[in-house]
Amino acid sequence: MFHPEEVIFAPTGRCNLACPHCRVSRGRGELPAGQAVAFLESCRDGGIERVGFSGGEPFLAPAFLSAVCKAAVDLGMLFDRLMTNGAWWKDERQLRSTLAGLRDAGFDGTFGLSHDAYHGRDPRTMAAFISAVFELWDRKDCVEILSVRSPDDARYMAGLRELAGLLGGTLEEDDGEPLAIVRADGPAGDAPGDRYEDGATLRIPILRSPRSAGADEGSWGSPRWFEDDFCAGPGNVFYVHPDGSVAACCGFANENEQLILGTMSDGYAVLCAAAAENAHVRACYETGLNAHRQGLETAGRRFPGKTADMCFFCDWLCRHPRG
Ligand code: SF4
Ligand code: SF4
Repeated sequence: MFHPEEVIFAPTGRCNLACPHCRVSRGRGELPAGQAVAFLESCRDGGIERVGFSGGEPFLAPAFLSAVCKAAVDLGMLFDRLMTNGAWWKDERQLRSTLAGLRDAGFDGTFGLSHDAYHGRDPRTMAAFISAVFELWDRKDCVEILSVRSPDDARYMAGLRELAGLLGGTLEEDDGEPLAIVRADGPAGDAPGDRYEDGATLRIPILRSPRSAGADEGSWGSPRWFEDDFCAGPGNVFYVHPDGSVAACCGFANENEQLILGTMSDGYAVLCAAAAENAHVRACYETGLNAHRQGLETAGRRFPGKTADMCFFCDWLCRHPRG
């Protein structure tokens, strides 16, 4: 059952980059901070404790970030990830003053740095961003790199090694897969997670995901259907789009109208009630998309093939409601 545990604000759809795999609609307006704070209060009253940020590039809306972070601190909420490409700044002065504003507003969550072959940023730009974060927050465990696999990651891997070196670290790898950037002379141990918990030691986990195909690209070649996880990964959030509409998912299908519950001005209780009445949301979170698929097949619906990617199927269904 859909039960939101976090609010994610996407204050703007604008971005300084134009990644080829981007699925964000631009030109959907900008979130007003005052309305966002009112919505946050409603969510806090409803029991939500965490807040995060995405986009577009959220650092292109620094005043919004400061206002909402201050409100979140006042409400006693916890910060989750702030997703960023880390390359939105024009010079070091702007980088540091913008980051300092966020720190002073109370943000103490994790920087989710989108960095992969598609983003294609210079390792020196990433190193400057990460170093500024380390310095201003006075700790080195507040950055994660989130990357999407690409068919040819060799250049990206070379860039990661260069980035690790620029940060005074080394790249931990396992069978060609990047795991983390860690201090070159870090203490040895059995479990990487046990080794770097003091906040002072360099550790940047690298979280990899396959590139999910968009509904238009097709991903129907699997020998078997996906397994339902009831959106345990990216689900159970209120995702607030730049136009104020609220989706029941932070995954890549969340711009489809089937996953839109209402707007920020509806508030927590009305949006939860809308989720409980929403057939697509219930299929994703409650009954399972496989059961929904089987029901459609019994009713005569045919699909182009099988897919092992639940979110791809969710997106495809939204975009092809009648087959
Ligand atoms: S950084 Fe993110 S929002 Fe910007 S173009 Fe790339 S994928 Fe899209
Ligand atoms: S199945 Fe749909 S609602 Fe669930 S996480 Fe994936 S895209 Fe979001």
